[in-house]
Amino acid sequence: MKCGDVCPTGAIARIEPEEEAILAGVQMGLARLNKQMCYSFAEPAPRTCGVCYRACPFPGKAMTIGLYEQPTVHADQCVGCGLCEQACVHLPQAIRVIPIS
Ligand code: SF4
Ligand code: SF4
Repeated sequence: MKCGDVCPTGAIARIEPEEEAILAGVQMGLARLNKQMCYSFAEPAPRTCGVCYRACPFPGKAMTIGLYEQPTVHADQCVGCGLCEQACVHLPQAIRVIPIS
């Protein structure tokens, strides 16, 4: 959240470094899951993974998990930080952040 503090033109708005303000004011992109690639959804034998969930800074809000730690992204809370994509253990990544447009 440092960009808004130092931006000389105000092109990036300052947002308080608190969860509520970040969830309400930040939308850099949206995480999109490819279930065909995700280990936790693999058929016929899912493998419990959930690494992306543990990397998410807003667990239980931006992302939740179910059986086999299958991740679900919640579009209204995901800020698009990309930490889930960075952490994904499948190569190429089974979860990717796409731009909002
Ligand atoms: S992009 Fe960030 S906020 Fe969104 S699900 Fe991934 S880790 Fe969570
Ligand atoms: S880290 Fe990748 S493979 Fe593992 S649950 Fe998340 S998206 Fe699926």
